Amino acid sequence: MQNSRSVCLFKQAQNSIPGGVNSPVRAFRSVGADPLFIKRASGSQIIDEDDNTYIDYVGSWGPMILGHCHPQVVAAVKQTMDNGCSFGAPTELEVTLAEMVIKAVPSIEMVRMVSSGTEATMSAIRLARGYTSRDKILKFSGCYHGHSDALLVKAGSGAATFGVPDSPGVPADFAKHTLTARFNDIESVRTLVAENKGQVACIIIEPIAGNMGTVPPREGFLEALRKLCTDEGIVLIFDEVMSGFRVAYGGAQQVYGVTPDMTTLGKIIGGGLPVGAFGGKKEIMSLLSPSGGVYQAGTLSGNPLAMTAGIETLKLLQRPGFYQELDDKSSYLSAGIAKAAKDAGYPIYSTRVGSMICAFFNKNEVHDWDSASTCDTAAFAKYFRLMLEEGVYLAPSQFETAFVSIAHSQDDLDRTIAAAAKSFKAL
Ligand SMILES: *Cc1c(COP(=O)(O)O)cnc(C)c1O
Repeated sequence: MQNSRSVCLFKQAQNSIPGGVNSPVRAFRSVGADPLFIKRASGSQIIDEDDNTYIDYVGSWGPMILGHCHPQVVAAVKQTMDNGCSFGAPTELEVTLAEMVIKAVPSIEMVRMVSSGTEATMSAIRLARGYTSRDKILKFSGCYHGHSDALLVKAGSGAATFGVPDSPGVPADFAKHTLTARFNDIESVRTLVAENKGQVACIIIEPIAGNMGTVPPREGFLEALRKLCTDEGIVLIFDEVMSGFRVAYGGAQQVYGVTPDMTTLGKIIGGGLPVGAFGGKKEIMSLLSPSGGVYQAGTLSGNPLAMTAGIETLKLLQRPGFYQELDDKSSYLSAGIAKAAKDAGYPIYSTRVGSMICAFFNKNEVHDWDSASTCDTAAFAKYFRLMLEEGVYLAPSQFETAFVSIAHSQDDLDRTIAAAAKSFKAL
């Protein structure tokens, strides 16, 4: 495979951009490769600067549920562009998208738009703290909620009382307000809440963990969290930046029938443009400036281009049978990869919720970060490189989710399964 232009551009990029990339995972470091520079994309395929074509399961890390460059989204964004791309004043487009989100996700009574998932979770936490007048927050080890200071904290052990910052530059004084529990382990949550009684403002969780690979919630776990939050006056925040509009039109909360107090969204609601959103009960959302005192703002928030891409994307998701079709494609692919591994005598633990799928390179089951972290990442790295050679573009890390889009054809899926069969045999 010829990739001289990507190699050249990466060399050049490293002089002007730290690590040559504008977001760390893009650098392919954990799989021992150099990143491909992408020129364009269409449907299920992306094309790099050397004109190699790949079947894409990254989908810009989640947003591209329709595949790339859906003609209806492209046409609408072009038309909006002609009217001016930013005013810093209210537009009808913002009201339209807000109403669509509220209709899709019943627990959201009011919503505010921001420009990224990071902003959404950061702002939701500020609001939860303002609403409860409490400082502490609780998150789960292995869950990712963007890169704001308070959320860049992982667990020491499951029962660690105080957070340890993951990154230099995060003051220990900030991180100490972040408690970290074990995903799928309600006792670890109960213990921390009891030890910090009356001090926990919110619990934030990916209801389907998608940033340590794909880890579904165990039966009853989300329900138990809901009850605990209600009993203790804690705001329950579902971070559905990834799962929102992905696993169902109403997100993970529709799939599992558990209602959070607040929800954060991103990725798909921007249709590939930069958008995030946070919403929830009116009683909580009304505390946000200017109707309340909790401050939050954004020069490009509710940007017309981004609103347009979101509106058109959501419209297309409402087609009857859309999610069933996506589910069928995803289960075919997931089962095909699992069978390919089994036939090759290679052990993997396969997970899927809707069009979020993952093959853990692990003999054992994965239900939390402790078990996810025992995966054979060296074998995954080799598998990733073999798949790339076969023309399949996966996320360059074991701890990511693969996204199936509605644009993936039967031929794409069969070619991917054949590539997996070949790659597992070569491991
Ligand atoms: C991607 C993601 C974020 C961060 O969103 P950005 O737009 O990258 O800031 C937050 N939470 C979850 C669950 C995500 O998957």
